[in-house]
Amino acid sequence: MTYGAYKNARDAAWQCLIDYNVKSLPVNIFEILKSAGIKFAKNSNANLVRPNESGISLLINEQWYIIYDDKDTPQRCRFTLAHELGHILLGHELKKDRYERTFNLSKPAIETQSDIFASRLLAPACVLWGLDLHTPKEIASACDISLQAAKIRAERMSVLYKRNKFLTNPLERTVYKNFEEFIIDNKK
Ligand SMILES: [Zn+2]
Repeated sequence: MTYGAYKNARDAAWQCLIDYNVKSLPVNIFEILKSAGIKFAKNSNANLVRPNESGISLLINEQWYIIYDDKDTPQRCRFTLAHELGHILLGHELKKDRYERTFNLSKPAIETQSDIFASRLLAPACVLWGLDLHTPKEIASACDISLQAAKIRAERMSVLYKRNKFLTNPLERTVYKNFEEFIIDNKK
């Protein structure tokens, strides 16, 4: 796994789903991290995450570590891990060898990028479209993400449903093909 492997959040999420052969929801973020050779640890053991953060990534002797606040709900932990993976795959510049996930209102661009990556990784638009999922509740349940994250995704999905231009990108077509069996088996 290469640091800074991907150029932008949109393509990165698709490429990551393809590279780690993801074929069903909810996306197994722990399996992706294992396959990518990224180590992860709960903050209740590591005690490195500050009170205003939900996760951090560290690069120590060429090895990536993600520490996540396991006091959060499992759904939020999944999003934190995906967000931190976004920093690593997108090659964001490190501050003193670490990325931090903070709650600041004025988020730097790289934080927004990692959020976009996480949301598109855990709730890929073409899969939601294939399953015909629309509401935050449906999306939260299928993707195992928080209702808060699902609300943001549902808003975006309503724009995409109106636009109706799914599967125009080759990467997205590959993602869809990988999920096709799951979609057929799980469509309402
Ligand atoms: Zn971050």
